[in-house]
Amino acid sequence: MEFTTQRRAVFLDRDGVLNRAVVRGGRPYPPATVSELELMPGAPEGLRRLRDRGFVLVVVTNQPDVARGAQRREEVEAMHARIAEQMPVDSFRACYHDDGDGCGCRKPQPGLILAAAAELGVDLASSYVVGDRWRDIEAGYAAGCRTVWINAGYAERGPSRAPDATVGTITDAVDWILEQEKGGLAANKVSGLRTKLFADGAEKASMLELYANPLIKGFTTNPTLMRKAGIASYEAFARDILAAIPDRPISFEVFADDFGEMERQGRRIAGWGGNVYVKIPVTNTRRESACGLIRRLSHEGVKVNVTAILSLGQVRRVVEALAGGGPSNVSVFAGRIADTGRDPAPLMRAAMEMLAPHPQIELIWASPRELLNVFQADSIGCHIVTATTDILKKLALVGKDLDEYSLETVRMFHEDAAKSGFTL
Ligand SMILES: [Mg+2]
Repeated sequence: MEFTTQRRAVFLDRDGVLNRAVVRGGRPYPPATVSELELMPGAPEGLRRLRDRGFVLVVVTNQPDVARGAQRREEVEAMHARIAEQMPVDSFRACYHDDGDGCGCRKPQPGLILAAAAELGVDLASSYVVGDRWRDIEAGYAAGCRTVWINAGYAERGPSRAPDATVGTITDAVDWILEQEKGGLAANKVSGLRTKLFADGAEKASMLELYANPLIKGFTTNPTLMRKAGIASYEAFARDILAAIPDRPISFEVFADDFGEMERQGRRIAGWGGNVYVKIPVTNTRRESACGLIRRLSHEGVKVNVTAILSLGQVRRVVEALAGGGPSNVSVFAGRIADTGRDPAPLMRAAMEMLAPHPQIELIWASPRELLNVFQADSIGCHIVTATTDILKKLALVGKDLDEYSLETVRMFHEDAAKSGFTL
C-alpha cells in the first residue's frame, strides 16, 4: 500500500494557541516578557501527539509590536526559545511588520506559511493551520491548508471564510486533526486496492445499498445464500436484481446435477443480461468434472464463473478448459481452505501464475473469513475478492485507532453484562 511521502505540517499560531494571550477589553495581546509567558494547558501534550503522527510543527506568529517600537525582537525570540524547551516545534516564523508596511507575511497574508512550506518541503493541501483569530484562519485558507479555529470569544470579528473546524481548546484542535488523519488513512488504504471487491449475497436491499457504493465492482450469489434469504422464484429474483443492477457483473449459479440440464440452465441464465456470469461448480455431486461443459459454454461466449474450487489441480484443469474462451472467473474458496488449517495464500499465488497467460480469466478469492484476507488478496495481485456483507462492513474499521477500539470493546462487555443483570 502506497502512501504519500510528502511532509505534512501543522502551522500553529502562537498567542492564544500555545501560550495564553493577554486579554484586554476583550481583545488578545501577546505577553510582554518571557516571565509573563504562560503555556496553554494541553499544548505540549497536543504537539507531541501531532509530532508522533509525523507532522512538521511550525509556529507562525504576527508580532507587530516590534514594528511599533513597543517590543524588542530579542524578547520575542526568547519567548520562542522558552516554548521550544517545552514542546516539539520544528520552526518558528515571525512577522515583525505592521499593517502599514504592506508586507506579504503578516497574517491574513499567507507569506509565513508559504515560505516555511517551501523551505521544509511541506504539502500545503494535506496540512493544517490552527489559530485563535480571523487572521490565522484567512491566512490558512489563502495558503490552501485546512483550518482549525480555536474560538476564544474575543470582542472582534470571526473568520470571513468558514474554518474547517471550530473548537474550544488546543487539545480539541489536535483531536480533530488526528481524527481527520484516521479517515484519510483508511480512505487511502481502501481506495488504493487493486483487487476488485465483489459482494456475495442474495438480499435485494443490501445488494442495492452496496451497488450505491462505487467500491463494490460486482456481485455473486449462491443457492445457499438464496435459501437463507427465503427466495422462492429463482428467475423472478434474478431478473428483479438485474433490472436494478444492469452494469456490474453478477453471478448466478446453475443448480442441476447432470451436465445436459446444467447446460440448458446455463444458457438460459446467460440470456438474462450481458453482465451475467453463469456459475458452474467444478464437478457435480458424483465427483464428475464439469470441464467439458465449462469449455463448451465459455467458447460459445457465455461468461462462466467456475465455483467451489479448492485445489490447485482443479485450477489447472479449469484454466485449460477456459483458455481461448470468453471472459471468465475462477473462484477458489480460500476461506474454506483456511478452515482446514492451510494457508490459502501460496495456493492463490500459484493460481495467479497459472492464469497469467490468459488475461480474460480472473481469479476470485472467495469466502474470505476476515477483512485481512482482502489485503492479502490485494498483495498477491488477485483480481477479485467476493465477500459477504458482514465482512464488507468491516471496511469502515480500516485504520481505526487500536486504543480507541479497545475502549469500545471494554464498553461493549460492560454494557452487555449490565443488560444481562448479572450479579456475583
Ligand atoms: Mg493568536
